Amino acid sequence: MKVPQSTLIYAHVRRELVEAGASIEVLLADVNAKIREHGGIILANKQILRRPIELGWDVEGYLDDYTSTPFVHPECEWREAQRQYFGDLWGSPAPYQYVSERDQYDQFCISARDPTPYLVPGELIYAMVEAIGERRGIECPCHHTQIVYTSRHRLLCMGCGQLYRVLARPLEQTFDVGISNERWESAFDDHGELIDDELEVRGGRVGLNSVSVPIDGFPANYLH
Ligand SMILES: [Zn+2]
Repeated sequence: MKVPQSTLIYAHVRRELVEAGASIEVLLADVNAKIREHGGIILANKQILRRPIELGWDVEGYLDDYTSTPFVHPECEWREAQRQYFGDLWGSPAPYQYVSERDQYDQFCISARDPTPYLVPGELIYAMVEAIGERRGIECPCHHTQIVYTSRHRLLCMGCGQLYRVLARPLEQTFDVGISNERWESAFDDHGELIDDELEVRGGRVGLNSVSVPIDGFPANYLH
């Protein structure tokens, strides 16, 4: 059966709650309150979770020293450009950052699968991205690496929904054709084989265009 779009996320949970033996529901309620208050939360891998986590999202806990490792949350740059872009894209102009309480969110976490569609309504895939920088190709940890460039001038993996980068400005070249999220989803069968005859496969790449985007430091800041 075809697996619907969902993104694997890891969210840190509050140490003092874990140490007091709190239930998963209580741990989620604490994180979800931040998401509701701030419109999102920046996770350790810099993905932005913007919907409260639900118990039905295959939630698993990593709540002891054997299954978790210490982590120090860095402060992510968040200025006017980030506020504008993510406010416009997701209504998340100022997501919560763990850095303000990093001693409480320093190890234990939960995983879950966020079922939010990868693209926002109206967003179109313009091209497959061939490479990042000169030294390395792109390999997404999901192993299905399908990094695309979209009409929202961002790079994300359609194999898993991971956002890699937002370009500060759209690429100057124009794209004749864009592929919607729905069309992309229906272009592949249950085994990941392309079944949309109008989408060509060239050199193992699916798509009508491909672009090289010269960015190093992947996956550093969102805006570049
Ligand atoms: Zn991926």
